[in-house]
Amino acid sequence: MINHDATICAVATGTGGAISIIRVSGKECLDTVSKIFFPLDKSRSILNSKGFTVVFGEIRDNGKLIDEALLSIFIAPNSYTGENSVEIACHASPYIVNKILEALINEGVSHATPGEFTQRAFLNGKIDLSQAEAVADLIASASEMSHKVAINQMKGGFSAEIQKLRSELLNFTSLIELELDFSEEDVEFADRNELMNTVIRVKKTADRLSESFSLGNALRNGVPVVIAGKPNSGKSTLLNALLMEEKAIVSEIPGTTRDVIEDTIVIQGVVFRFIDTAGLRETTDIIESLGIKKTLEKVSKASVVILLDEIGENAAAINERISYISGIIENTGAELITLINKCDLATAETTDNLSKEIKTPRTSELMFISAKQKTGLDELKNRLADMINNKFRSDSIIITNTRHYEALKKISSSLERVIQGVEQDITSDLIAIDIRQAIHYLGEITGEITTDEVLGNIFANFCIGK
Ligand code: GDP
Repeated sequence: MINHDATICAVATGTGGAISIIRVSGKECLDTVSKIFFPLDKSRSILNSKGFTVVFGEIRDNGKLIDEALLSIFIAPNSYTGENSVEIACHASPYIVNKILEALINEGVSHATPGEFTQRAFLNGKIDLSQAEAVADLIASASEMSHKVAINQMKGGFSAEIQKLRSELLNFTSLIELELDFSEEDVEFADRNELMNTVIRVKKTADRLSESFSLGNALRNGVPVVIAGKPNSGKSTLLNALLMEEKAIVSEIPGTTRDVIEDTIVIQGVVFRFIDTAGLRETTDIIESLGIKKTLEKVSKASVVILLDEIGENAAAINERISYISGIIENTGAELITLINKCDLATAETTDNLSKEIKTPRTSELMFISAKQKTGLDELKNRLADMINNKFRSDSIIITNTRHYEALKKISSSLERVIQGVEQDITSDLIAIDIRQAIHYLGEITGEITTDEVLGNIFANFCIGK
């Protein structure tokens, strides 16, 4: 069990660089730090400092000078944790940092557990649980897009939406519970039509949010792009050209790309995870070959499928493959781009004629490239970035967290039961149970309802010092 009254300390900065920052937080933190930090201006004491002040001084351990450092002082509740806190900016030598931590620990400070500062911020009401989780995402964000999603969540857009839904439902439970008190008299305080409208509205929002999970997941972990196509159509060459390094094995022998190879590139701030696959062949082979089974699995999980064909192929065969892939992705919401490769081998006239004969579904795109000569690749990259940017508006609330996704799914099914219950005119007490359950799951997202176990799991994934 964590003792939240204790003063805690940890290094907040990573390795490398000239300065390290040690964070100290807790009610007694100024008292404790005053035993090892001595302002250069002898007339000053950090004990009566105002918040948001910076003091220059010496760190001493049993009188021995360890370093000169800057101390930033934060007074409760105006700090990250909501408690009195200080940040010691010292020189980044591992020896100095350890010496300071040791001196603090000798004064009774505990070393922080992973995420403990953020956990305190949550427990002190500075942020809710989904915002705390966004802090971890923000630290982990590796691209402009994953950063945007995390920032939106940290700023509380998602929390506000969840709070709104929760309070709408709370209004109704209180009315329904009032009905239960008067159950003998068969009265209805909660207008069933109004209740139905609210529940439908809340359920729609919950569904919209949970639908955003696949995009959120893609933005966070990289948008999965599968390059599928016949053996020898140039999939490895294309992947190499996109990655600009020799990651996949290129060969003249059909079907050499046995294993699924993955790599990522960033296009216009979006991380794309390219998945090179064994080629798609005739239907019978598709069932036989494990590599191809994997391809189909990957195709059905991709956000974008690139179907690669070559200029020498006839249009009928290409069209057949297009409709085959379209069939697989019909219900997955994936986009299809059809690429005709090896255009360096053909005249403009051949390309023109072929383009007239190829039939792509409405959402798909047809492009002509040469993976070998690296022509048409910029257009392809732009197209990929556009596809994702069109789905993402900068103010949109997008779910990236499995915990939130699961809770939203449960909210939706509880509310579905409410809708059915009202339609079937079932008794108020049963309706109240389902509404209360939806409210419970909404509270789980923001952390109003939580257990030590859930908290432990969430904060264990944080780094120490955050
Ligand atoms: P995969 O089996 O689909 O992965 O195909 P590879 O990438 O291994 O390519 C098969 C062959 O086609 C290799 O000899 C490549 O050099 C060649 N190739 C790939 N792209 C092009 C292209 O744009 N133009 C030409 N002329 N040859 C290409």
